[in-house]
Amino acid sequence: MAQLPLFNDASATPKKAVAQPSTPAAPTLPTITQPQRLPAGTSWHLHTVQGQELGYLLKRSRRQSIGLRVNEHGLIITAPTWVSMAQVHDALEQKFAWIVRKLLEWEERLQQLALGKSQWCDNGSIPYLGVAITLKLDPEAFTTHFSGNHFQPNAGDILTLPLAKDAQSSRVQDLAQIWLQDQARHYCINRLNYYTAKLGLPYRGLRLANPAKRWGSCSSDGMIMLNWRLIHFPVAAVDYVIAHEVAHLKEMNHSPAFWREVEKLMPDYVTARNLLKKHHPDTLPLL
Ligand SMILES: [Zn+2]
Repeated sequence: MAQLPLFNDASATPKKAVAQPSTPAAPTLPTITQPQRLPAGTSWHLHTVQGQELGYLLKRSRRQSIGLRVNEHGLIITAPTWVSMAQVHDALEQKFAWIVRKLLEWEERLQQLALGKSQWCDNGSIPYLGVAITLKLDPEAFTTHFSGNHFQPNAGDILTLPLAKDAQSSRVQDLAQIWLQDQARHYCINRLNYYTAKLGLPYRGLRLANPAKRWGSCSSDGMIMLNWRLIHFPVAAVDYVIAHEVAHLKEMNHSPAFWREVEKLMPDYVTARNLLKKHHPDTLPLL
């Protein structure tokens, strides 16, 4: 199965903690607290580097070198069982500038995420096909309705939800999500029909899903899966994912021949792909 992965820079794991001269003074670390539940196989540690206390998770593994990464749990260091704690500390010190940078990016993403969560209320705004639309809670409304053009929205268009003004954010999110998934289905079917006609090959069916790690996939029997959260993105980014999966109907790989098919379907796909790369999935409000 050909899959389009999410672009997650947390995977930028250095292969090996190489010896380096000590790094220049790093900026202040965000405070990392011990997670309430430790991810499987990890233990929590503290180590002071350049006068700053660094909290991290240590995972022992059978790999051959020390690896560092930052994900939603914070800093995780993976080390072979035979590596001593002193060697782990050495790696933390050598990579401290990288660690601080990654942790600051992580903190910023969490803040953006928190911001996203606070939007599920009257007058809150959510991204829809690349523009910010406004939520209105109206207890008199009979159904959910949208003031703008469904597939060419303008910033400030209003999505009215039949809810009390002070409805719980989870209810607001549930109703808005039903509408967003509905739009995603209509939009994707429309564009799948367009691109498959252009390609000259049919697809077997569409499945909308919300996988944590990919935007879309295409199986050898012609089933296309699309991540419905794409509906938050600008049209060009959504179309790129659809064109990409449709091109897999002809080329089940990422060879030059595959990219030629993508280009035939969407001549400006490079710009659209870069647009998609700019969106970190953690900043989406519906994750
Ligand atoms: Zn692909």
